[in-house]
Amino acid sequence: MVGRTVGVPRGGSRRLAVPVILALLAAVMASCSIDEAALGQAASTTTSGSTTTRPTTSTTDSATSLVEPADARALITPTGVIVPVLGVELPGYRVTAPCGDELLVSAGTPIAEADVVLDPGHGGEVETGAVGANGLIEKDLNLRLARRTALELKRRRYSVVLTRTGDYRVPLEVRGAIANRLDASVFVSIHHNAPAPPGSDRPGT
Ligand SMILES: [Zn+2]
Repeated sequence: MVGRTVGVPRGGSRRLAVPVILALLAAVMASCSIDEAALGQAASTTTSGSTTTRPTTSTTDSATSLVEPADARALITPTGVIVPVLGVELPGYRVTAPCGDELLVSAGTPIAEADVVLDPGHGGEVETGAVGANGLIEKDLNLRLARRTALELKRRRYSVVLTRTGDYRVPLEVRGAIANRLDASVFVSIHHNAPAPPGSDRPGT
């Protein structure tokens, strides 16, 4: 389901190089403490109790690091989480955290657009997705396939963003918001079903 044809990659000449290391503006939303930790808020020290697995940053798009902060439509946080930007409030960004709450994030790498947004289904301790007979967990397989697909697409010079870069929950509306904010030409949600015999001819997640 990742074989859809995409358009010609956009040129990157208008993207200006501005490394973004911004001072902390504020950490908000006590109800979203896990997300604060996951987003890498410098002032947030309350990481105890968080079971969120820190995502890697290896899947972030090389085409996304050359964007002016004012043009940010999504953000790669210092810990590699991708979040949609609701508004630029320099030196920070108002974003939708993975939990769905609004947060003010002070640092990160802005993204202005993407050719392709890949959406590894499920994530986090509860939303595992299907579990195979051999113990293979769908959320892990989805992420692995998304990463490999992203690498292949980037090799072909498409800009690619993942809606989830680690093992944490992302609500559907946040996944969609990332693709919409980046005006992606293609949005592919990746799932692997594990139906019990006789299976189903209906799509599922
Ligand atoms: Zn699924």
